[in-house]
Amino acid sequence: MTESYVIIGDGISGSSAAETLREEAPDADITVVTDEGEPLYNRILIKEFAKGKLPEAPISIHDEDWYDERDIDLKLNTLVTGLDTDAHEVYTHERETLEYDKLLVATGGTPAQLPVPGSDADGVHHFWTFQDARRIREDAEDADTGVLVGAGLLGIDFAAICAAQGVDAHYLMRGDRWWRYALSEDGADIIHEALDEKGVTPVFDSGASEFITDDDGNVVETVDSNGEHYDSEFAGVAIGLDFNVEFIQDAGFDIETGIIVDEYMRTGVEDVFAAGDITEFYDVVLEDHAQNGSWGSAKQQGSVAAQAMVADDVEDDVEEFRWVSSYSITHFDFPFLSFGFPTRGDDECERTYDDQEWRRLTFKDGKLIGGVLIGNLAPQSKYKQLIREEAQVADQKEVLLEENFDLDDLDF
Ligand SMILES: Cc1cc2nc3c(=O)[nH]c(=O)nc-3n(C[C@H](O)[C@H](O)[C@H](O)COP(=O)(O)OP(=O)(O)OC[C@H]3O[C@@H](n4cnc5c(N)ncnc54)[C@H](O)[C@@H]3O)c2cc1C
Repeated sequence: MTESYVIIGDGISGSSAAETLREEAPDADITVVTDEGEPLYNRILIKEFAKGKLPEAPISIHDEDWYDERDIDLKLNTLVTGLDTDAHEVYTHERETLEYDKLLVATGGTPAQLPVPGSDADGVHHFWTFQDARRIREDAEDADTGVLVGAGLLGIDFAAICAAQGVDAHYLMRGDRWWRYALSEDGADIIHEALDEKGVTPVFDSGASEFITDDDGNVVETVDSNGEHYDSEFAGVAIGLDFNVEFIQDAGFDIETGIIVDEYMRTGVEDVFAAGDITEFYDVVLEDHAQNGSWGSAKQQGSVAAQAMVADDVEDDVEEFRWVSSYSITHFDFPFLSFGFPTRGDDECERTYDDQEWRRLTFKDGKLIGGVLIGNLAPQSKYKQLIREEAQVADQKEVLLEENFDLDDLDF
């Protein structure tokens, strides 16, 4: 009998799963459901579109023909509202029922809203979809002043958009530095100076407590937690994601912040798998559950999930998810890369090399698990190799921090 596979979500994890499924199961019925109105596009590049640096065309990855050619049934503008895992059925907002033999949940997250007055005003933006990017670009082009909230990897994209669009912006940060969970003051200061140079002013020990609007409901001013007022015809909020799990809340899944899966993307509910940002996956190096918000990781998880969905014997037939994720920022004159798990671990070391070069490494149980590189990304592949090989190197920090260290100089 023909197997039927349903994938919820056409982001990179869902789409990569569909591609792998078609390769592995040429005759299967495959359906991909997405609430977005367009097929897979490059979410990483939508910030360049919002900056005004790229037109629409190169951001798209697949058109509808891509799915037709592979005999994949793509359902756009279709929200999944519930599922019955005993009956093996998925329900959509149009009361359609989709039956599955195997199901993949690849629904990612939605940006969280600040719980403060005015956070839903016109001109207050959150950033996840191409549609968001179109609105952000339009508003940023018209704005003279802006405020940004959220001292992390998505917040800094808003800052770069304001800089590129000539918006005079204040970047309100809750603590004393940008991305304080991964960077020390020395590392963060390199970023602060680069922001300043681009016309974005960092404001520390701050945060938005209210967005004030004009009579038409457009944001005009932001009040911070210290009562300071900042002119802001544009506001960008990036304080984290709410993971899209509402429709499975009562379906028996193990959910913490995301869906708990093992290293093969199995959820524990029979015939249901999950992949991408939505998962809290078992990381075989960390020997613990973890979440990744990165493109490469989501793509690989989609592929592993698809292989597990078709496998007769998952442990024998499928290679576990063993991946060192990385996330780069290209907004400044110097490169920036975080890799692995820079915000976790029980040990760390760091070094400043010059005013635009800095490095920090994190360790757990003696193993390297992640880090941040500013200015010089050359050692990234060596660090990633050490992570993948689970090398015990925490006792050799001096060698690891040498500017051009050699793997042969390490004893492991
Ligand atoms: C502006 C921006 C910049 C980024 N920059 C980088 C970067 O430089 N490097 C990097 O590695 N990563 C970056 N990321 C993160 C990266 O894009 C994500 O980690 C990755 O796209 C996650 O893919 P996913 O398939 O797991 O989820 P998503 O891409 O979020 O896809 C999930 C899909 O499921 C749909 N969906 C959700 N619920 C339902 C439902 N109930 N019914 C139907 N459909 C549903 C959603 O609309 C969405 O289309 C960036 C993200 C953003 C927003």
